[in-house]
Amino acid sequence: MRGKYFINTYGCQMNVHESEKLAGILREHGYTEANTLEECDIVVFNTCCVRETAEYRVLGNLGIVKKLKESKPDLKVAVCGCMAQKPGAEQALKKRCPFINIIFGTHNLHKFGDYLDLLDSKKYIGEVWDSEGEVVENVPVYRTSGVNAWVNIMYGCNNFCSYCIVPYVRGRERSRNESVILDDVKRLIGEGYKEITLLGQNVNSYGNDLADKEVNFANLLDKIANLDGKFKVRFMTSHPKDLSEDVVKVISSSEKLADYIHLPIQAGSDRILALMNRRYTKKDYLNKIDMIRKYIPGVGLSSDIMVGFPTETEEDFLETVDVVKRVGYNNLFTFIYSRRSGTPADKMEQVDIKIKKDRISRLIDLQFEIGNEEATKCVGKTYEVLCDEWKNGKAKGKSSCEKAISFASADDIVGKFVPVKITATKNNQLKGELVK
Ligand code: SF4
Repeated sequence: MRGKYFINTYGCQMNVHESEKLAGILREHGYTEANTLEECDIVVFNTCCVRETAEYRVLGNLGIVKKLKESKPDLKVAVCGCMAQKPGAEQALKKRCPFINIIFGTHNLHKFGDYLDLLDSKKYIGEVWDSEGEVVENVPVYRTSGVNAWVNIMYGCNNFCSYCIVPYVRGRERSRNESVILDDVKRLIGEGYKEITLLGQNVNSYGNDLADKEVNFANLLDKIANLDGKFKVRFMTSHPKDLSEDVVKVISSSEKLADYIHLPIQAGSDRILALMNRRYTKKDYLNKIDMIRKYIPGVGLSSDIMVGFPTETEEDFLETVDVVKRVGYNNLFTFIYSRRSGTPADKMEQVDIKIKKDRISRLIDLQFEIGNEEATKCVGKTYEVLCDEWKNGKAKGKSSCEKAISFASADDIVGKFVPVKITATKNNQLKGELVK
């Protein structure tokens, strides 16, 4: 055994899954997982730079590691992910934290094993590739996500929303080969995973960069839905301009594809959407919601909303409020706009932080109210629930339409699909009982 590892993951599901790959590589190199930072021999920071706060957290935690290294000088420190990929970040990180041993970017994550091999002979290894290159397959994965398995279907993004740094640190869209994805999903179902979540920055663009024009997201979903076994498929994230009627029709036609779509609108004002370079209007978005509901009645919907985008006025914000009221989301992920240098929005006129905070708290209150109303409508209904947690007779899981439900069960039923009738709701939480 070479020692113990501890991985600090920041940011989105893409990063959570990439940490599973980092863990896979570490285990292949003889490391085992540490329970705490204090007992590890190598700590890996898999970073995010989408919001400033994520970067501050990384720097704060690197400060803690610096202290730990004083009492444990052999501790090795690796930093990777989006923050490391930013132009000039490697030099800046190295200058600020000279105790870091390895820095690498998102495009060369698969080389982590090579850097581990060099660790004994080199004090510092820094390599950040400028461009994305080909999709690399067969990176080992150590999965820790219970009944769910993440599967990348593509990497990168071509959209260049004016506030977002992702295309700069993750590169252009690259789709994985369809047969490789199908083999992965088949194998994971065979291993007992009951939920597969397909990952991509914009899954609806899947296949656009491939030579075979028959390969697209709707066809991929259809092929996965035709695999044998009892399982659910989810995906994230969808761009509203690209989510097609074909995709929605395929979802409606199969029990295996979850009745749930995360469709980030970001803002309700057409003026702000244009400044964001989102390439749809409020009307386009609401039409898409109507189309989804036509094919999938009872669909669960969620969204990302950013408040305080540069120049956002009260009138603009009220357009967002109007969308939230009209759609009635299951769930809303709300954010305050955060400046990212190098993006066009960073150069626009900024909104005062007090106004941003006021708007986000009004939005959270509104969604809490709507969430409660939506939850109350569920009482008396029975849902098929995939149980993903069980402890001392208390079980938790979620329905196909992504409603989180807790219920009592004498037996450990993690990984099982069970019927649960909703009996009560409190603060957006659904409680139910097993239907015998
Ligand atoms: S679609 Fe827009 S917000 Fe999403 S990753 Fe691409 S550029 Fe960023």
